[in-house]
Parts: sequence; structure tokens; C-alpha cells
Amino acid sequence: MRVIVIEGHEAHRHPGHPERPERVEWIVERIGYDGVWRRADEELVRRVHDPEYVEKVKRYVGWLDPDTYVSSGTFEVAVRAFTASVMAPENTFILTRPPGHHAGRGRGMGFCIFNNAVGASLRDEKVGILDIDAHHGNGTEELLRENAVYASVHMGAGYPGTGKTSDERRFNMPVFHPLTDDGFVRFLEKAFEFFRKGGVEFVVVSLGFDGLAEDPLTYFSLTPRAFFELGRRLREWSWKAVLEGGYSRRIGEAAEEFVRGLG
Ligand SMILES: [Zn+2]
Repeated sequence: MRVIVIEGHEAHRHPGHPERPERVEWIVERIGYDGVWRRADEELVRRVHDPEYVEKVKRYVGWLDPDTYVSSGTFEVAVRAFTASVMAPENTFILTRPPGHHAGRGRGMGFCIFNNAVGASLRDEKVGILDIDAHHGNGTEELLRENAVYASVHMGAGYPGTGKTSDERRFNMPVFHPLTDDGFVRFLEKAFEFFRKGGVEFVVVSLGFDGLAEDPLTYFSLTPRAFFELGRRLREWSWKAVLEGGYSRRIGEAAEEFVRGLG
């Protein structure tokens, strides 16, 4: 596996906001990185998002909603992160900033600008998007392509309030108590079974670390060990992972466990 960082991601920042450049530094401190992604292709973004929305982010500095800032460097960084999500080779952990799983066709929300996980699903094979961020990926569900299915474990009583129902293309597991590592492993087993039944050939991980007990924004109780279990189960698949949430310093240790699990 390899780890890629997005060139200039520090330009996406707002003082005091939890979605800050230090998050990538905390991860890189523990696992290092193999390359820096520079290419930015707006056309790829328009395959997923409304052109009007892409234009708006390009020309705007300010807030898309009460949580989601656009700083002067955001557009270029977000397009780069999305491009990397589409084009980076298999078995790569892309340290995407800004995150993406709340972003819908024509709007950013919940710290997210462009939907990197959906970008990573722009492929020919059957894709399973595994969303283990502690929030539900409402944007990913909205943008789910014909070739993809979606599995998510998330706070049932948390932002953004979606993800309560399942069907043949979506396996949603809302959790109303502090999710433990054991509960997380049970989710992984069900999610991968759902993928196998659905004929999934390639896994995209929306890799949020905000389920950690230390996280300031959630009520889950995961330890870094949970992410080891995730990595271990990915060994038998071709995959790509994009960074979503995770706002405590412990995300570095969790990322290290994820890499160790991959073996
Ligand atoms: Zn989250």
C-alpha cells in the first residue's frame, strides 16, 4: 500500500475550525507518506457535481453552511483531492482534505466540498463504498452510481440525521450508543458479507477516524484497534481509501493501526 498527501492542503484552513491541516500532520507523523499529489482536473469533478456548484466554490470565499468554510485556497486543493481520489492507483490511502462524504450534487455541507469517495467509485467494476466515519455519508448516498453499493455505520442520533434505512444497494447501521470495537467488527463482517452478496470487486473506504473515543464531535468509543481490524479485512480486496473526519490527535495512532492491519 501507499500513502499520498495533497499538495498545498494547508491552504484549506479557517482559524479554530476542527477540520484543520494538523489532521494530516498527525497522521503523517505516524505513517509517513510515499508521494504528493499535484494534478487538478475540474472536468472530473463535473462528472459528479453540478457545474454551477463547482463554479460557485471556485469564485467564493466564505461559508457554504454554518460548518463549512471555503478559504482562498480551498477550490484548488479540493479539486486536487478529488482528482487524486479518481486517479491514484489501487491500494492507496489518499489523505484527502477537505473531506467529502456529506457533499451532494449541488452543495457542500458538514466540512465537505467535493465527494472524494464517489470520485474513487468512477470505475468500471462493481464498487462497495465502506463508510466508517461516525457520521452518515448522506452525500455519497445521494450520488451513489449505478456500479456502486454503500455500507455505513454511524451515529443514529447525530449529524446529519440520515442513514436510517437499508435496501439492496445500501446497508445502513445507525448506532445510538457509544459504539465499541466489538460492535465495529460486527459491522465490518456484515458490510463485507453485503459486498460479497452484491458482487463487489473493488472497495472504496470513506476512512473517517471520528469514531475514536477521544473525538470531540462524536459519542462513539472506538480505540485504534478497530482500525487494525479494518485493515486486516481489506487484505483480501483491491481498495482505495480517502480520509474523511477525525478530529483528535489520536487519529495518527489509528492510521498506524490501519496500516499495520493491512500487513
Ligand atoms: Zn464524521
